[in-house]
Amino acid sequence: MEIRIPDINEICSKITRINAKFNGETKSINEWVLKCREDINKNNLLLKEKSNENDMRILKIILQSVLIRAMKGEVSEKIRVLLEENLKTKEDLILENYKKIVDNYRWGIDKGAQVISDVVSFFREKLNWDFVEYFQRAKEDYENNFQKDKIKQIKHIGFKLRDLALSNFNENYAANDLHVVRVITRIGLLNEGFNIECLKSGSLEMGNNPSDEKQYLFLHKLILRLSKLTKGTFNEYSPVDLDRIFWHFGRTVCKSTPNCNNCPIKDICLTGKILCLNK
Ligand code: SF4
Repeated sequence: MEIRIPDINEICSKITRINAKFNGETKSINEWVLKCREDINKNNLLLKEKSNENDMRILKIILQSVLIRAMKGEVSEKIRVLLEENLKTKEDLILENYKKIVDNYRWGIDKGAQVISDVVSFFREKLNWDFVEYFQRAKEDYENNFQKDKIKQIKHIGFKLRDLALSNFNENYAANDLHVVRVITRIGLLNEGFNIECLKSGSLEMGNNPSDEKQYLFLHKLILRLSKLTKGTFNEYSPVDLDRIFWHFGRTVCKSTPNCNNCPIKDICLTGKILCLNK
């Protein structure tokens, strides 16, 4: 069998038509992508008008992201509500309130509260609430995944959660979680990694384990490359768009047990071709 890396544009044109359910709402994946772009635009408007209220809004968006995947179960909406209820103004930024938000934290309440405390300290003490400066640094260093970011160095955060936080404001930061990476690997798009120049330097390692730093950095470059391959086409997709596309697709069709027979890309996906051939 001839092995050819599937074309990202063909893949996206087929899977963005699928309907996906999230938080009780069903939309096509394409509509979810548009919604995500709208959210990024809205969040960036908060940066344009400096106020205590907007500082708190931005902080809560970041906190929600760095906590969400470290909580047990699907708790996205619950965390948002808890953050709203307990952190209304800057005066509410105290340990006692943090503990009320993280009762479900994977490593215990104290560690969850410490994460919030460290993030708050960074923005309040180190950056004096200068979110514009923070996001500007992230924007300038997106190619190298903003490796010197202090938020990323906080215990229990790391690249994946930090990138999820940045993805709310910057389209070049995709949080490469296991679900997204699994789909990319199955389709065969991981092989686009052979075309990444800096792989030779040894600072990256080709692989699909987001918990390994060198492999995570490779995955970051891979998504940037895939995004570039969509440039100049009818549908240009940013790294965050691609993350959203594969995330919804992975929850809907290409789940832990893939549903290849009912998959619209089974004739171009490398795994689909093999599984369907062997039936
Ligand atoms: S063909 Fe199968 S493995 Fe490939 S994307 Fe579809 S469900 Fe996943």
